[in-house]
Amino acid sequence: MVELPFDNPGTRSTASRDSVSVLLPLPLAGAYDYLVPDDLDLAPGDIVMAPLGKREVMGVVWGPASGEVASAKLRPVAARIDSAPMRDELRRLVDWVAGYTLSPPGAVLRMCFPVPEALEPAAGRKAYRLAGPPPERMTGPRSRVLELMADGLARTASEIAELAGVGAGVANGLASAGSFETVQLAAEAPFAEPRGDHPGPTLSEAQDAAAGALVGQVEAGRFAVTLLEGVTGSGKTEVYFEAIAAALEAGRQVLVMLPEIALTAQWLDRFEARFGAAPAAWHSELTRGERRRVWRGIADGRVRVLVGARSALFLPFRALGLIVVDEEHDAAYKQEDGVAYNARDMAVVRARLNDCPAVLATATPALETLANARSGRYCHLHMPSRHGVAELPDVALVDLRKTPPGRQEWLSPPLVAALEETLAAGEQAMLFLNRRGYAPLTLCGACGHRLECPNCSAWLVEHRLIGRLQCHHCGFSGGLPKQCPECEADESFKACGPGIERLAEEAAARFPEARLAMMASDTLRGPKAVAEMVASVERREIDLLIGTQIVAKGHHFPYLTLVGVVDADLGLKGGDLRAGERTYQLISQVAGRAGRAERPGRVILQTWMPEHPVIAALGAGDPGRFIESEMEGRQAAGMPPFSRLVAIIVSAGEGAAAGGVARDLARKAPREAGCQVFGPAPAPLALLRGRHRFRLLLRAGRDVNVQTVTRRWLSRVQVPANVRLQVDIDPYSF
Ligand code: ADP
Ligand code: ZN
Repeated sequence: MVELPFDNPGTRSTASRDSVSVLLPLPLAGAYDYLVPDDLDLAPGDIVMAPLGKREVMGVVWGPASGEVASAKLRPVAARIDSAPMRDELRRLVDWVAGYTLSPPGAVLRMCFPVPEALEPAAGRKAYRLAGPPPERMTGPRSRVLELMADGLARTASEIAELAGVGAGVANGLASAGSFETVQLAAEAPFAEPRGDHPGPTLSEAQDAAAGALVGQVEAGRFAVTLLEGVTGSGKTEVYFEAIAAALEAGRQVLVMLPEIALTAQWLDRFEARFGAAPAAWHSELTRGERRRVWRGIADGRVRVLVGARSALFLPFRALGLIVVDEEHDAAYKQEDGVAYNARDMAVVRARLNDCPAVLATATPALETLANARSGRYCHLHMPSRHGVAELPDVALVDLRKTPPGRQEWLSPPLVAALEETLAAGEQAMLFLNRRGYAPLTLCGACGHRLECPNCSAWLVEHRLIGRLQCHHCGFSGGLPKQCPECEADESFKACGPGIERLAEEAAARFPEARLAMMASDTLRGPKAVAEMVASVERREIDLLIGTQIVAKGHHFPYLTLVGVVDADLGLKGGDLRAGERTYQLISQVAGRAGRAERPGRVILQTWMPEHPVIAALGAGDPGRFIESEMEGRQAAGMPPFSRLVAIIVSAGEGAAAGGVARDLARKAPREAGCQVFGPAPAPLALLRGRHRFRLLLRAGRDVNVQTVTRRWLSRVQVPANVRLQVDIDPYSF
């Protein structure tokens, strides 16, 4: 008989104490009831193997059985896995995220087990190593595996499957055929240990006050959320480093979330200099083996500090004492596919469940975060000036209506003059244009036909360096057609508008002596390439850096004194209500790269609309003015943060099928007080990866439980199998 420490779930349940509900980490799953065999003693959080159809799958004991299926029909749990149970607060996080985002709990649980084999005990894991002759029967997958294993390293079957891109059985087959020997893997490499007792720099008065507040929270070991707002270069990083040191001294673990892990080489160097050892990292570039090692190190507490992308939120920390979300406003924290969640917001939830402080650091808070700080839900620490002698750069607007660039050129005379001065003084400059490739649009000079993606409602972007046209939404790629498909004119296609490749062409022609470099996510592949580029800028091997938004993020270049924003208006086009906020954040961040050390910096914004509130506020060096007017505008329009939004995207291969469901949703829209539905309208990308998309927006008062309303709403609508509904609570674009 089992003794389960469960709460009584209520009188409705007819479950016996001999059954439990088990949550399976599968995309569509909820929890299922299973019998508990007599010889098993199960508690919530225990990891088990349970039968599902003809398979046995891993799952987590979630609670008492629901009692919806009669005991006689239940199948028994197969076994308990000998591993630490899933911690209570992580299980509550899964339920919380699933409930908040209206996702199946199994889909969220899956994010907690990215490398299920990490559950196996580390010592004594079996691996294969090349030993015998090649097998008699050779296949494509087998030869890929043999090629991989030719280096003589030992790997587990699942690592081999992942690295060679083959099924899990191929390695086992090669072992049976005598090509591999089985070996025991040695213990995993230990983690270097960052230490909290190294001295930090002497803090300024403002830093000291902010650090003192955060250290107090860490030492108290209770839930608290703090917005750490400070202009770029104000020394926020040093401030939260003090909080990290305090958490380490208290024997707790720390999670630092960064929006783009690929861009963190400088951050990692600073961390190591401060704490004497590098933190562990969690991001998409890790190999499976590295993931397994880090996952285990987090679970057993050997990893003290982890820097990670948003998925790090679901790791099994053993003693979490602090969460830092750096650049909290960044759109990269919003996941839109699958479980649609904002990692910044879920970090706050995780901190609450773990009863530890969370710090949200930024120079340009999201309006939602600012509203939370103003209402007193979050503490607010503010550092209004740069550290040391560095001053915020001067921002000047260039009115392109008065001083336009020449034909087929993008640099205006005032910006060219500033670049000349800077380069002549031996200083560095940066040109920012948030457009990858050569030109955003390619059209036929004879008939005006535009080259569009066959799968998406988007133009194809010419990437001249690799000689391809690409869709930035679905990855479609093709050559430039010799003939216009519309009017059959020969060689008639013309590039329209600038991307950074084209800008680099103009810059190279104007400044032939300058050493140019381009920085974009497609010209720099992976964290190593980014780190090398950043290092060569630091060594002053580059005079003029031309880049997309990846140059905006976090880098510290002491000799960079001029930033030119080639098209400040770019992000303001289109109807997105967040366009102003996003533009102000992005341009403030790029501008923040200039003049970070002794040499003063300046920023030039090229614009066709200098009187636009965002541009004018940036030009006046007074972003506060923009924030206030934007807050007022949102309040007047009843938009977030003064209301709540839910986006529902209805998509299907057939436009009519998607449209039918979308109209049905509109007809059955919730009538609850304070709720209003807009749409359906074609979604921002009306065609994406071959699927037609419509969007409905539910707007509700802040006191409305939008999850309940939305769940009820969706349950009234029949959705055929070929139509997909995606629910996005708090959509980033609106
Ligand atoms: P932010 O994170 O607000 O952009 P940083 O923490 O990166 O600012 O600080 C900007 C620069 O000032 C960095 O080069 C940093 O090393 C330096 N700095 C900040 N605080 C101090 C300090 N107390 N003593 C010495 N240098 C500091
Ligand atoms: Zn496409």
